[in-house]
Amino acid sequence: MFSSYFDVIIMRSPIARLAESCAYLMNDLELSGNRTVPIVNAGSGADEHPTQALLDIYTLQRSFQFDSPKDSPAANRFEELRERKGYAGLTKGLAHKTYGFCGDIGRGRTVRSLAMLLALYENARLVFVSPDHPTLSMREDLRERLVDRNVRFYEFESFDDMLDEKPVIEQLDALYMTRIQKEHNNPQDAASMARIDFSRYCLTPELVGRMKEYAPILHPFPRDQHFGEIPPEIDNDPRAMYFRQARNGMWIRAALLAHVFDVDRLISRHFMTEYLERHNYND
Ligand code: ASP
Repeated sequence: MFSSYFDVIIMRSPIARLAESCAYLMNDLELSGNRTVPIVNAGSGADEHPTQALLDIYTLQRSFQFDSPKDSPAANRFEELRERKGYAGLTKGLAHKTYGFCGDIGRGRTVRSLAMLLALYENARLVFVSPDHPTLSMREDLRERLVDRNVRFYEFESFDDMLDEKPVIEQLDALYMTRIQKEHNNPQDAASMARIDFSRYCLTPELVGRMKEYAPILHPFPRDQHFGEIPPEIDNDPRAMYFRQARNGMWIRAALLAHVFDVDRLISRHFMTEYLERHNYND
């Protein structure tokens, strides 16, 4: 029914792997000569959120080009940073960086998808900061996948734990904050979660002040205003890249649909010849 009525199915579901199963179903339909349509996974359970990972990595990539002030906390200061600020090893691009993830690592599907993408980059180190709790810390399957890919990763309980003789917060080249996914809380966890000091998983201006000055802060949104993993006083810091990240989500998903319908080259040609001189899409 669905493949007869629609041209694409964008599927957001609380059930892990449902989008993947539907994609396999479409493959089977194709084999038996029936009409199939593309499936886009727009978030499946606590499993994966691949389109979010695409916009996250795009946001990081633009930050680490050190070009436009809208994209990068240290735009146009790449050489200066390398020479004067003691960041001699700094390179452009996504490789050779330490990426921090903080909050609900166990149930954060965006963390899982982004970690797997970052694992493809040379010498990318991943640092996970979460309570040491079976529901909130990294799940074993992700641990195994990272080990299989020879990724260097670390698990900590606090931004003040030490990595290479410095507190973690001072070592990060980018920080990905997440909210605690309370709506998935399980009554059996109530007592053990009540013992956790969750304030350790909230950023403060003091913590941000200790971060590298070019390090973007990301969040997949919505943020939890009550929990306060990113309090609004951080929004004006040049490192706060989460609103830019949200806007990038619109462009990345438009690009993905253009690609799925095989019109990306057509659009880019039209853009080059008809629009480029009159519009600025970087705003
Ligand atoms: N919007 C993201 C998701 O769909 C993150 C979140 O809800 O916390 O997973």
